[in-house]
Amino acid sequence: MREHPPLSPATQAITSGRSSGGRSLAPALWASSTWESESLDDAHRRATGLRQTDFYSRYCNPTVRSFEEAVRDLEGAEESLAFASGMGAIASTILGLCSAGSHIVAQRQLYAGTLAFLQGPCARFGIETTFVDVATPGAFTAAVQPGRTMMVLAESPSNPRLELADLDELGAIKGPFTVVDSTFATPLGQRPLDHGVDISLHSATKGIAGHNDATLGVISGDADLLGEIWAYGVLHGATPSPFDALNALRGIRTLAVRTRQQNDSARSLAVMLADHPAVAETHYPGLSEHPQHALAGRQLLQYGTVLSFDVGSRDAAARLLDRVELCRVATSLGGPETLVCHPATSTHASLTPDEQESSGVTPGLIRMSVGLEETVDLLADLEQALA
Ligand code: PLP
Repeated sequence: MREHPPLSPATQAITSGRSSGGRSLAPALWASSTWESESLDDAHRRATGLRQTDFYSRYCNPTVRSFEEAVRDLEGAEESLAFASGMGAIASTILGLCSAGSHIVAQRQLYAGTLAFLQGPCARFGIETTFVDVATPGAFTAAVQPGRTMMVLAESPSNPRLELADLDELGAIKGPFTVVDSTFATPLGQRPLDHGVDISLHSATKGIAGHNDATLGVISGDADLLGEIWAYGVLHGATPSPFDALNALRGIRTLAVRTRQQNDSARSLAVMLADHPAVAETHYPGLSEHPQHALAGRQLLQYGTVLSFDVGSRDAAARLLDRVELCRVATSLGGPETLVCHPATSTHASLTPDEQESSGVTPGLIRMSVGLEETVDLLADLEQALA
């Protein structure tokens, strides 16, 4: 029999995640929170089965399941599991796998919510974290305490300075569960599981859903491991909404064309910013001067849709945000509109000044999520705002 070549991920974004729709081309919305049982035996089967789609929506929901199947295929995973938000995925993964006395190794340069979760609730529950520098080769491995470290948690590219964790180094760590928050890359920009990492995690609120109309998180990995996190997750209750899963599934269909356009624009903007006299530093893995450009070439399939740059001071940052016209001042990323934000006073406002400094969140730093507007219009807007 003639073997079909494997489908490319961009094609899988179209073909996958169709189990709940019957012959309908658009995904079906299953808004129901509960399903009828035929008998006590039937009720028992549903109540005790793993991720039954026809029992109760906190356990599983057919629309959410279709979304999970699409992400699973894009990640090249055995299973995927969705949550009500990226933070829901992070909290459920950590608390599902760690206990009082567990040790985590995480990078210092994290999304502020993840950092706050490790330093607040996790510390309160007796889960201790050692923070390392994401860009120092071997730092994660060196901080692992054999027999005690339960998890190694990385975020790559990191928010907001686009620093990279070496995925091959993480994949080679045996013993602790390795988790990579791959939100900034999207499943088309990076595949942590191919490097031997245990769990790839996304805030699907961002590029995956891609339209600023869904709040979701998703993790991918081996079925047994995700089954364990699912068993915790149904009690934690960060349950994804089927409406949001529907929007995200629709978003996935166009993920490839969206990220292609956003990557092209991001690269052009980064090149312009890197040469601009009003810009002190530009952070984008696709620039040859990015300190980890070679690593980016080895592990990123796309350089990304987000960049950051430093205009020198808080005042200069405030002036720039005041002057942009096409770019909108808002947090979040991965949507059709180009968004600019000032991490020190928004996404990373909860960090102390020392933490901001060690995470590279400088007073003049601006983060930009590149949208789907024409590149020339974005270049013109930034140039007039910087002038
Ligand atoms: N991980 C990263 C890298 C993020 O940037 C964010 C939010 O900005 C999150 C996780 C949290 O995602 P959510 O807002 O969907 O909870």
